[in-house]
Amino acid sequence: MDVYGLLGNPVGHSLSPPMHEVAYDELDMDARYVTFEPEAIGPAIEGANALGISGLNVTIPFKEDALSHVEPDSLAERIGAVNTVDFSGSDDSVPTGHNTDAEGARRAFERHGVSRDGASAVVVGAGGAARAIAFMLADDGATVEIANRTVSRAESLAADVDGTSAHGLDELPGLVSGADVLVNATSVGMESDESPVPAAALHGDLAVMDAVYSPLDTRLLREASASGATTIDGAWMLLFQGVAAFELWTGRDAPVERMDATLRRRL
Ligand code: NAP
Repeated sequence: MDVYGLLGNPVGHSLSPPMHEVAYDELDMDARYVTFEPEAIGPAIEGANALGISGLNVTIPFKEDALSHVEPDSLAERIGAVNTVDFSGSDDSVPTGHNTDAEGARRAFERHGVSRDGASAVVVGAGGAARAIAFMLADDGATVEIANRTVSRAESLAADVDGTSAHGLDELPGLVSGADVLVNATSVGMESDESPVPAAALHGDLAVMDAVYSPLDTRLLREASASGATTIDGAWMLLFQGVAAFELWTGRDAPVERMDATLRRRL
């Protein structure tokens, strides 16, 4: 049996186990997906390697620390965070580290027919999700403006991503009015029915993605939809980061529609 899993703390409410296990079921694979809450990431990755675990996802609070315990690919190294570890090398090899959050956001846009090349994009936030999304948008040819509550964090992200600039949230109306793509990568909208972007700034030429997936129908997406914008909810990025990890580990095409249905039933 192949064992995959998730390292994080807490992981009790993670939707990754049902999403991956439905894929094993669909493809008739002898595999399980298990969650772990280790004390520290280094010994956990080393132990998983010794036990012959096939692949691990990594989530909060270990994504950044994981970088120094794997051989990261260039994207994970630039983002500064690993969310997927692959142990498929030989027994004594160092596992490889990847960041499929960026690929998840990319495939979410592709699924909705939203082109990034030449687009003017605004990313709200400067945390882990914002970093992955900003690198992806810039790599795909968008001009990226980063707006964050703490402007110094936006500045430090903008310094890492070519061709981006940093702003405060008060600049959002002006930035969004001329934009093609808007991403909320803050946690605003999770705990309360709030949006980080004033509704009056939204317009019908925008594609709006919200990284928040609980709830799915955030205030931002409701107001974006009312303004005629294309909307992409947070389940798409969550789905496709899992799809990308599955495909990296197994080399097989993931059963995307079944994984999507399983995820959405539980959100
Ligand atoms: P994080 O690293 O902790 O960053 C949080 C971000 O939210 C920071 O930019 C922070 O601004 C901002 N923020 C928090 N409270 C705010 C408020 N009241 N007003 C304005 N800004 C506020 O978190 P993360 O890992 O990037 O996650 C961000 C969101 O994305 C979460 O909702 C998470 O669930 C979601 N996410 C979704 C996916 C997916 O696959 N769909 C993947 C990863 C994350 P400051 O810098 O000023 O504190």
